[in-house]
Amino acid sequence: MAQLTDDCFAFGGPMMSVDEAVTLIAARVGTVAETEAVALRDADGRILAADVVATLPLPPFTNSAVDGYAVRGADLPTATERALPVVERVQAGASSRMSIAPGNAVRIFTGAPMPDGADTVFMQEDVRIDDAGYVVVPIGLRPGSNVRPAGEDIAAGEVSLRAGHRLRPQDVALAAAFGLTEIVVRRRVLVGVASTGDEVVTPGRQRGDAQLFDSNRFMLMAMLARLGCEVRDFGILRDEQAAVAKGLRQAAGTCDLIVTSGGVSTGEEDHVKAGIESAGSLVLWRMAIKPGRPVAMGIVDGTPLIGLPGNPVASFVTFVHVVRPTVLALAGAIQSKPVTVPVRAAFAYRKKQGRREYVRANLRRAEDGSVEAVKFPREGAGLLSSLVETDGLVELDEGTVEVKPGESVGFIAYESLM
Ligand code: AMP
Ligand code: MG
Repeated sequence: MAQLTDDCFAFGGPMMSVDEAVTLIAARVGTVAETEAVALRDADGRILAADVVATLPLPPFTNSAVDGYAVRGADLPTATERALPVVERVQAGASSRMSIAPGNAVRIFTGAPMPDGADTVFMQEDVRIDDAGYVVVPIGLRPGSNVRPAGEDIAAGEVSLRAGHRLRPQDVALAAAFGLTEIVVRRRVLVGVASTGDEVVTPGRQRGDAQLFDSNRFMLMAMLARLGCEVRDFGILRDEQAAVAKGLRQAAGTCDLIVTSGGVSTGEEDHVKAGIESAGSLVLWRMAIKPGRPVAMGIVDGTPLIGLPGNPVASFVTFVHVVRPTVLALAGAIQSKPVTVPVRAAFAYRKKQGRREYVRANLRRAEDGSVEAVKFPREGAGLLSSLVETDGLVELDEGTVEVKPGESVGFIAYESLM
């Protein structure tokens, strides 16, 4: 378990920018040490623990890229088409290596090893067979055409996947192409999740008149699972210092990270703050981000804790900027900024300078073919529908004060965040 010091999240400034937060987290949160070997089938989404070096060149042998006829480059006709006798036939998987004498052609299929001496393949669509059974090849083909040389994709010994990379299906394919059966990855980060508040109740339980069902916990657990974490559910902690402290201590003993939502404002009924302080240490990060509000950063028995705001949209957005980089740091993953794609704003917007804002938006194709971001019509941080009915977030940086329709803005798809 990563043991952190109490002052690990202490921060001097009154307002923290998103970039400062990410930098501080990356610098102070250590990586889980344990690694494990997983079968290829289980490797997707896992974080590579060490570089994967090519144990084979890819392709492993020089082969034909097409179905056709292999010839020697010196035999390519220059002035007029030429008929060549077809002396052999070589299929994909053929084990015997043959050689080709000058003036001959070999019938060959995609993926079959090139005969020694041959370096060019005519596509079968570009030739004809004459009455004598010779293949008639046209002029104009460049020597080396339609051949895949050994190692053209990846040379043996090359670092082909970097430690810290999060494996995708195509990466698993590469490991398989080297003949590996297992990949060494970091163990999954174990995250404990809890909600707080006397007004929230678990779905399936009786809801009182002034209560709402807990939605944050299920959103956060799902987001963490998408980031490759193992998630442990600590339910709902009542708005009471002792209950919170007990729940957090329990989570700290078994998890690498604790994520809570609610109870971190500075109101009288925000007992979570006191609970965290009694179980460990706490700093409130006032982040220059909207939707946002303060995010609680703490350490309970050496385990990092992130207390997100209770409003679902604020919880979602601060998760992306605080929990996500923390999970990546713990997981030993290369930190990647969410990708913003330039799109055209189909809305007008004004904002305060000095803070970053995220506008929930949908993408649509405009009549001229360009992609436009359409702002969700309402802005409340409590509106779950605003997350459900949109495709992603338009990021407006600290310096922006106004967006006019038609201007270019950066869009982040929800999919790219998890
Ligand atoms: P808080 O941050 O505790 O002041 O909560 C802010 C708002 O978010 C309040 O309206 C809460 O009722 C709501 N809220 C807090 N926790 C949750 C939750 N787990 N699911 C849905 N809404 C919540
Ligand atoms: Mg609350």
